[in-house]
Amino acid sequence: MEICSVSAEIAPWSKTGGLGDVAAALPKALQAQGHRVLAVAPRYAAYGDAWDTGMRLHIPLFGHRHEVSLYHSQTPGHDVVFVDHPSICRGGIYGDARGTYGDNLFRFLLLSRAAIEIARRFPVSGGAGPARPLTEGGTPHFLSHDWHTGLLATYLRHHYQHHGLLPGSRVAHVIHNLAYQGQFSFSEFWGLDLPPSAAPTLDMGGVINCMKAGLVAADRVVAVSPTYAREICTPEEGFGLDGVLRSRGGALVGILNGIDPAEWHPGTDPHLPARYGAEAWPQRPDRPGPVGGKATCKAQLQAEMGLPVRADLPLLGFIGRLTGQKGIDLLEAIAPWLARQPAQVALLGSGDRQYEAFFSAFARRFPNVAARVGFDVGLAHRITAGADLLLMPSRFEPCGLNQLYALAFGTVPIVHATGGLADTVRSFDPFRDTGNGWAFSPASPEALQQAVALGLITWHQHPDSFAALARRGMAERNDWASSAAAYARVLGG
Ligand code: ADP
Repeated sequence: MEICSVSAEIAPWSKTGGLGDVAAALPKALQAQGHRVLAVAPRYAAYGDAWDTGMRLHIPLFGHRHEVSLYHSQTPGHDVVFVDHPSICRGGIYGDARGTYGDNLFRFLLLSRAAIEIARRFPVSGGAGPARPLTEGGTPHFLSHDWHTGLLATYLRHHYQHHGLLPGSRVAHVIHNLAYQGQFSFSEFWGLDLPPSAAPTLDMGGVINCMKAGLVAADRVVAVSPTYAREICTPEEGFGLDGVLRSRGGALVGILNGIDPAEWHPGTDPHLPARYGAEAWPQRPDRPGPVGGKATCKAQLQAEMGLPVRADLPLLGFIGRLTGQKGIDLLEAIAPWLARQPAQVALLGSGDRQYEAFFSAFARRFPNVAARVGFDVGLAHRITAGADLLLMPSRFEPCGLNQLYALAFGTVPIVHATGGLADTVRSFDPFRDTGNGWAFSPASPEALQQAVALGLITWHQHPDSFAALARRGMAERNDWASSAAAYARVLGG
């Protein structure tokens, strides 16, 4: 198949969360399965490894034709085309210190419209054979990700297929997070270069809703986990779009994200002070805690975060965007109790000021708690490797990647049983010796505290059970192979 994947983020060039990771890994995994794949993303800054192709496109929007330049980065198995325009290339991804950019609708429409032209014209070799456009020798299908590219399917229908172009092309719109929908005043509609007949497909209560546009116009809709696909069809978790989603019936499927082992593998990770495998958790431990490379990662993480270097205490980690979604309020509610436990806590996150303030105050108050406010990819890897347990009390979580990374790194996840967390973390059952972590419910401080207490007791008093838990997680294969195959089936019809 010929596949064009279009997203607002792509790691490592641009990333604020899981979208960036997935937008990088999924095209690579599809290409590894023999498809010819092109990833398209914005050029937010001058990337040293992406060169100007000299190709220019002219995109009509808001009454003018806007020239965009195309940059190209090519590594084996991974072709990325970056769309450049002065409105896109100004440092921030969605905004800057003054807030969200006011022209984000325009910026991401440029991306979406450019992507269709790129799929038609940009020469790509896709790992084998001479470079030729995706339209030569095949029909390009599209993966549009989140609200930013919600109108890609709308443009494909109204501008191309309406005129007999790209007749066989299909779009799968991927929901990474339904909470963000891209809502703009309907007074902008005149500038979108769409016929009035398109208006109802993106109108939601009198405003333009880019996510809705994708859900309505795409051939298929993918949510990033089976449980999330069910949850978003309910009024409680549908963020107002549950009715639209229910109306799509069988066109909506859930496909779990995977791990890109080139980025997240404890045996090769360049961000770590030491590398390790399953031997980090011995079969018959003579004391609690990891050994070898993982013990080194733990000790160095404690030193890096300013915590006492102690192998005799379990280290709990947290990494994430600090928004209401991530359940920081639950963590805040149990903070005084948590700080009194025989354990240490290492926190990394950035986002809402109130949660950043809580992180800093929590760490100042207790010597066994450390916090970093900021976005630090290296530290995220070192916490994933150095911690014994990873906390994810998310109130909702479409898929969640950190728990998958934790499992691969022998770090036992404690999660709220929601969305993709419910699909990937199974609570430890001491009688059957099964499970790979703790999944608590409901999303209450009491349930979180109880799960953490179980984790700490198991670490201190049953090191053999804890080691077996961690080893089971490490043995799981949450890689992209089966998920990429599922995406290919969805695009195939
Ligand atoms: P979401 O997409 O909701 O942010 P995911 O768990 O799917 O959550 O993905 C989060 C990704 O972002 C992971 O790769 C995680 O390591 C990374 N991440 C989140 N916050 C930070 C941070 N403060 N510093 C570095 N990486 C972060």
